[in-house]
Amino acid sequence: MDHFTTRSGVLHVEDVAIPAIADAVGTPFYCYSSATMLDRYNAYAGALEALGAKVYYAMKANSNLAVIKTLGDAGAGADVVSIGEVQRCLAAGIPAARILFAGVGKTREEMAEALRLGVYQINLESEGELRALSEVATSIGIEARAGLRVNPDVDARTHAKITTGRKENKFGIDLDATRAIFDLAASLPGVSLRSLSVHIGSQLTDIEPYREAYERVRDMTLELRAAGHEIDHLDLGGGLGIAYGAETPPDLKGYAEIVRDKVGNLGCALSVEPGRFLVGDAGILVTRVIYVKQGGEKRFVIADAAMNDLIRPTLYEAFHGVVPVVNPDAPALDGVCDLVGPICESGDYLAQNRALPALGEGDLLAVRSAGAYGAVMSSTYNSRPLIPEVLVKGADFDVVRRRQTVEEAMALDAMPRWLADG
Ligand SMILES: *Cc1c(COP(=O)(O)O)cnc(C)c1O
Repeated sequence: MDHFTTRSGVLHVEDVAIPAIADAVGTPFYCYSSATMLDRYNAYAGALEALGAKVYYAMKANSNLAVIKTLGDAGAGADVVSIGEVQRCLAAGIPAARILFAGVGKTREEMAEALRLGVYQINLESEGELRALSEVATSIGIEARAGLRVNPDVDARTHAKITTGRKENKFGIDLDATRAIFDLAASLPGVSLRSLSVHIGSQLTDIEPYREAYERVRDMTLELRAAGHEIDHLDLGGGLGIAYGAETPPDLKGYAEIVRDKVGNLGCALSVEPGRFLVGDAGILVTRVIYVKQGGEKRFVIADAAMNDLIRPTLYEAFHGVVPVVNPDAPALDGVCDLVGPICESGDYLAQNRALPALGEGDLLAVRSAGAYGAVMSSTYNSRPLIPEVLVKGADFDVVRRRQTVEEAMALDAMPRWLADG
């Protein structure tokens, strides 16, 4: 259940009619439902509650401060991948002690800052990172709590660009090299390596790959303990998918059972890092039709949102449902239709080969399930300013990121001395 419903023929987000938001902020814009996020968070946390697993929101999915605060106030910690994300968490009220710092290439400067701020744990992904963390922590006189991300070589059966747990992916340490890293860590000052972490990919709707991955984590935990290493925490990653189209959403109860069966009785504290699952279905991208053009083969609906606003269709061949905001259930016209933006790239589309109802200039469309990896991946390509983000709560809504102006985007540019006037 999400909170996007049709009332009197008009799409609403919770109790707010979308045209009212469009009138207030203009188009295009992202719009998020607080209640949908909180429902997802409560379902996820609830399914794992009996196992004592702590939820760290993978905030790279949507790092708007209001989104982070909504989930943080509900009890979530945060999984971050840069010091910028740490700063966003702190600004949104998630304390450092509830932050897990992951990522394949943390710099020494980022590690030092994270340690000074007191993040809960740093997840390492290479021997180089381990040595760097040891040096950094020693130089500032702190013992750093660390985890090691392992690569279980499991096929997550998801899109190639979002699978992360195969040997050929850049993430983590191969299982057969893990023991040596723990041995090395035991000999280094400043680092307390006591945790294993695994994240096999994103948008998994089939939960079976987790069974294999967690089985390998379990075996590795036992092997490390037998070798004298203390393991007190397992970080089980994120990756549970959502239904963008006809997919069956993943079975949370089944997932929790896999966690319990495979790693529930090891005496380890557990954490999970969902991103997309919490926020994906909570957001839409609202765009206005500029023109409709009948091509030789298909109808092109040219809208004011483009690939710079939502790159998932172009980058991942991702499917997003598209519905008119007024009369969303109107019957589709014969023939197929592409929803495209104004950008000068053939890859600039939000949807391809869809059956859509009759549409005219000025009509509003909602691009569904755009709450995750949407606004955060946007750019200003073609000098298109970043678009607003709006958060809805019940009958109330507020702008949580205002529209950028072209002047603001240009303000970072500067003329070199030899081109400056006078
Ligand atoms: C991206 C990421 C996540 C979240 O992935 P989702 O598919 O959005 O749940 C979790 N953990 C790590 C380490 C990640 O890089």
